Amino acid sequence: MFDKILIANRGEIALRVLRAAKELGIATVAVHSTADADAMHVRLADESVCIGPPAARDSYLNIPALLAACEITGADAVHPGYGFLSENARFAEILESHNIHFIGPKAEHIRLMGDKIEAKRTARRLGIPCVPGSDGGITDDDEAMRVAADIGYPVLVKAAAGGGGRGMKVARSEADLVNALQTARTEAKAAFGDDAVYLEKYLEQPRHIELQVLGDGRGGAVHLFERDCSLQRRHQKVWEEGPSPALNADMRARIGGTVARAMQELQYAGAGTIEFLYENGEFYFIEMNTRIQVEHPVTEMITGIDLVNEQIRIAAGAPISFGQDDVSLNGHAIECRINAEHAATFRPSPGRIAYYHPPGGLGVRVDSAVYQGYMIPPNYDSLVGKLIVHGRNRNECLMRLRRALDEFVVDGIDTTLPLFRTLVRNQDIQNGDYDIHWLEKFLSTGG
Ligand code: ADP
Repeated sequence: MFDKILIANRGEIALRVLRAAKELGIATVAVHSTADADAMHVRLADESVCIGPPAARDSYLNIPALLAACEITGADAVHPGYGFLSENARFAEILESHNIHFIGPKAEHIRLMGDKIEAKRTARRLGIPCVPGSDGGITDDDEAMRVAADIGYPVLVKAAAGGGGRGMKVARSEADLVNALQTARTEAKAAFGDDAVYLEKYLEQPRHIELQVLGDGRGGAVHLFERDCSLQRRHQKVWEEGPSPALNADMRARIGGTVARAMQELQYAGAGTIEFLYENGEFYFIEMNTRIQVEHPVTEMITGIDLVNEQIRIAAGAPISFGQDDVSLNGHAIECRINAEHAATFRPSPGRIAYYHPPGGLGVRVDSAVYQGYMIPPNYDSLVGKLIVHGRNRNECLMRLRRALDEFVVDGIDTTLPLFRTLVRNQDIQNGDYDIHWLEKFLSTGG
């Protein structure tokens, strides 16, 4: 096992990794920018190193500074969390070449899945059903028109290097398409430095359903059921739950078996998420994320399995600590992403938290790195914390979530708590009757 893990991240996920490391008896190193000197992960780690100024590119994305921090502290492994360098294959390779373990998948798999065109090709080869679309990248407008006519409008232009919902444009007709290609390319170039795009059938009313997987890197792999992340704003997840209200046990077992076999064949290592759109009883692969995800606690609550603990153990060469038959689905869990944003306008609201009182009680988990008096810096994402609630069934979970949201107090800044208080009382949400467009429609009609 590792002696010392450097956590190359900040906020709630840095704390999450720190907790798993402590439980394994591994020493921890926090790194931080000058804006994060007072952060909770810095206070709770065994050691800390300042790695640069506030801008992420000079600190949390600064590979030489992170390497130096490993060297100074003698860390023998790095956990990248999510975001920042978590899906940077080059970072994984550089660490390995310095004899430091990267707690994540093999660099080749990070690279493969980071290119969404290659990812789809691989998924198809592994027997995973995909959204109909172009076979590879689209280089000229005529080709795009041919493919679009073939799969039928509406179509979606997507960036090969895409992430965070950027570089995605819908075209409802041939006239739209040329424009959509142009905007998607420009956006992709600006955001990712890569203007490669591809075409997909635009699904009108799908749900976003994703499968959690773990692989040991030697052909052993399991799935840990699904999370339904259909409640989104601007293609960003807002509320995640598991199991999905739309699946029955048969469908669950079928898609679970498909992804577990695919990961066995790929010899995938560590935690990963295979994302699908789900419409009319069919699954369509859209992408794979080769990291721990924000919404991983949903899976932890319904399976009782500590995903970060497994990630660390797998990276150290251990087998997965359980087999597929040992994984069972226990109750229901919902996660709300509480952001420092106005609940109606979504205007960011960094600033000082004047009063903080998180909810508690049976089945309530809060993953957060804030505290009373904490100053949310304007430099990073606006996540204040995640409220995750578990119940023996979906109804109990909803009732518990309602009272936990009512208990939650964050004063001094705007948060999205009021939005969740409205959502939990909404009839469609209570019925589990929503698709990926539901939230945007709800918000555009004034909630
Ligand atoms: P990113 O990597 O930018 O997050 P994804 O491919 O994961 O992009 O898609 C993000 C979201 O965009 C999905 O959850 C879904 O809401 C929407 N989306 C993606 N592909 C399609 C599609 N073919 N049809 C309809 N919606 C889509």
